[in-house]
This record gives sequence, structure tokens and C-alpha cells, in this order.
Amino acid sequence: MAKDETIIRCSALPAYMDCNRRAAAKLFQEEIEAAGYEVRQLAASVGSALGTSAHYGIEVVLTNKIYNGQLGSVEDACNAAVDKFSEEITDGVIWDDTTPSLNAAIVQLRRQVQAYMPMAALLDPKAVEISLSADVGDGFTLAGHIDILEHNGAIRDEKYGAREGQFWLQLGGYALLAKSAGHEVNSLNVDWIPRVGKTKHQPPVTTTTYPLQQSQTDAYQVIQRIKMDVQQFRKDPDRLYQSFPANPMSMLCSDKYCPAHGTEFCNAWKYQAAKPKEEDFPV
Ligand code: SF4
Repeated sequence: MAKDETIIRCSALPAYMDCNRRAAAKLFQEEIEAAGYEVRQLAASVGSALGTSAHYGIEVVLTNKIYNGQLGSVEDACNAAVDKFSEEITDGVIWDDTTPSLNAAIVQLRRQVQAYMPMAALLDPKAVEISLSADVGDGFTLAGHIDILEHNGAIRDEKYGAREGQFWLQLGGYALLAKSAGHEVNSLNVDWIPRVGKTKHQPPVTTTTYPLQQSQTDAYQVIQRIKMDVQQFRKDPDRLYQSFPANPMSMLCSDKYCPAHGTEFCNAWKYQAAKPKEEDFPV
């Protein structure tokens, strides 16, 4: 990857369509700051730390399967995930309502990894946690990290969040990358292992399969859109609505999830805050 290339991450493609500006603030932070804007560094969330750790637990057992033909035990996967979680939160973490403590996190992490093990036992992995990139022209590189690629050409992405999202653009980007690296791709699948409160029953894994051709086409279009937006920003960094339109209607428009919230890189959050106070009304 050339040093001066601009990286577009597949995982950012769905978020880009939710709020162009929030996604740009995450994807192109260095360039945006060089243009004179400040954006905030978001604190690590417990949801993200749990997701990374659960992925690692499953990676360990699927790697066993690839090289030894044996998955290994549920305990192997859980212990690897818990060790990883300890590393992930070394510098602190923001707890949330679903996971308010370390104790709750460990219970949830073990349950989520356990819930995925029957699925892992059925998979026929060719490779796990594969980092790929491809030149998409004009100095831009598409990059992505595929969780699981099976011998039958299935791409699988594990999601460990509290809510199920829509990820065909991300998976479409993975398909483009995998094909450009010479892999056969026949299906795009997201396995969702929900994160629920400690006192609730762990729901089963559900799988969403996205249409391959449509996902690739849509991902390609969004990549082209991002390239045009960045090029427009480079031409005129002051006219942000011409480059990165903002969407304050987004569910993630808050200081917790958006690095542009509360900064001069976005003005839309200001309108949200301008709610009348009681003392503003005549008595
Ligand atoms: S503050 Fe809201 S509208 Fe502005 S970039 Fe962030 S999410 Fe988008």
C-alpha cells in the first residue's frame, strides 16, 4: 500500500450512507485535521472491546480447525476471548446499559462465544481474519478484514452487537477484495450473535445472507461516491455540505458515537441542542 494512498475501509461503507460527515471524520481524520478542523477521539466502548475479543476466541478455534482438522473446546475459545478482553480494556473502557461492569462483560462474552461454537463446528474455513486491499483508482485503496472465508466460497462476518444492522455494503466490499485477490466468492453472510443483558437468556445465532451481485454493485457505487466527496473536500474544505453532507437524524448522532459532535467540523449537532428551556416561555 503506497504511503500517500487514501484508505477506504469496507467496514465504513454502511456508516457512510448513514451520515457522510461522521464516517468521513473517522475515515479521513488526519486529512480533515490538516485542513484546519478538529475532531474528537472517541473513547473505546465496551461493545467494541467485546466484539474484538469474541472474534479472537472464534479465530483461535477456527485456526485449529484449518491446521489440525479439530476445532478445540468451547473452553479454549472462551479463555482466549476473555484474555483478549483483558488486553482490550487495559487503557479503560466506557461501559453501557447492556454491559455495566466487568463481571457482566465476562458472562456475556463467554455466552456469545459458546453460542457461536455450534456454527463454528459446521464451517469449513479456508482462511480466517484475512486482511486484503486493492487499488480502486485515483490514489484510493479499498481495505478490509474478512472474518471467515470458507472453501465453498462463503464469506462470513461475525457481529456481536446489541442490535442487528444492515451490512450488505461492507460484505459487498469484501467480495470485491476477495475476488481481486483471486478467491472464489459464492455467498455473503452475516452471523449475528446478540449481546444481551446478563440476566437475559442468550438468543441463538441468526444468519443474514445478502445478494452477492447487488452487494458488490452497491459497494462499488458507494466507493465511487466517497472518492468524489473526498476530491470535492480537497478542492474546497470550507463548503462541507458539498463534500460530506451531515445527517443529524442518524441514530448515532451523539457525542458518544460521533467524533464530529461538538466540533466545528459539523454544525448539525448544534441544532439538536437548541431546545427551548422552561424559562424561555412567557409565564
Ligand atoms: S454530529 Fe450528527 S450530523 Fe454531525 S457528523 Fe456527527 S452524526 Fe453526523
